[in-house]
Amino acid sequence: MILLALPKAMFFRNVSKEVLAGSLTLGAVFVTGYLLGKKKSSRMSITKSHCGDNPLMQYVLNHSLREHPVLKKLRLRTMEDSWNIMMVACEQSQFMANLARLIKAKKALEIGVYTGYNTLSIALALPDDGVVVACDISEEYTNIGKPFWKEAGVEQKIDLRIQPALKTLDDLLSSGQAETFDFAFIDADKVNYNSYFEKSLQLLRKGGVIAIDNVLWGGKVVNPSPDDADTVAIDKLNKKLLSDTRITLSMLTVGDGLTLATKL
Ligand code: SAM
Ligand code: CA
Repeated sequence: MILLALPKAMFFRNVSKEVLAGSLTLGAVFVTGYLLGKKKSSRMSITKSHCGDNPLMQYVLNHSLREHPVLKKLRLRTMEDSWNIMMVACEQSQFMANLARLIKAKKALEIGVYTGYNTLSIALALPDDGVVVACDISEEYTNIGKPFWKEAGVEQKIDLRIQPALKTLDDLLSSGQAETFDFAFIDADKVNYNSYFEKSLQLLRKGGVIAIDNVLWGGKVVNPSPDDADTVAIDKLNKKLLSDTRITLSMLTVGDGLTLATKL
């Protein structure tokens, strides 16, 4: 099942803009071609939101998305931000929350928060004593999400750390938290993806899951340009994981490509 996405190289504060396009597989459902523009109007209807406007995609969403009312509010607020294409696809976020529930996750890592849609989604899926360590370098983006985390009643489960994610992961390791996390979502700057994966793997317990976003990078991984550092980094990690005996591996064509690695 394939979906094409059009790459748009856009950079901001060391972060490539997300190219949201892609395919969706939910069970045996195939979806063909939808692509989000780089900026959505705040006046757009809910159905023409970041959640996709392809008719088959809409069908999938209409028949599977169970978005918490505060998540929906945060999504609509995020659509008012000019960098909204960085937000995770909502059906993908729901899938990861279900995965976290499936493995009875209590401790999660969010590497790259933006406005915190996925952070909120995961926090809602964790038990009352669960925690998401949320890593970002931007107060500006994360401040958008904070009121919604509070409104949803889960702010106490979100441990937001504003500093480079590598530093936060090192802090967690040096404070003796290796092998204590259940779930990690890697979605920050792409050039550090390999380091995020290696540190997350150390922080995960056996059976824990690492989800890596944008592993297809709008299709650019098929023929990476050597001077495109983001694509090269993603492709290199994809190639490495194929023969990595420390994990089980799946690469899903949901969103812009999502790799799932379970720690053996
Ligand atoms: N996961 C988010 C969601 O649910 O919508 C989207 C994350 S967005 C694609 C990437 C985020 O990574 C941005 O908010 C950016 O500020 C952050 N970022 C970029 N470089 C970073 C770094 N070195 N450490 C931590 N966060 C970083
Ligand atoms: Ca992403």
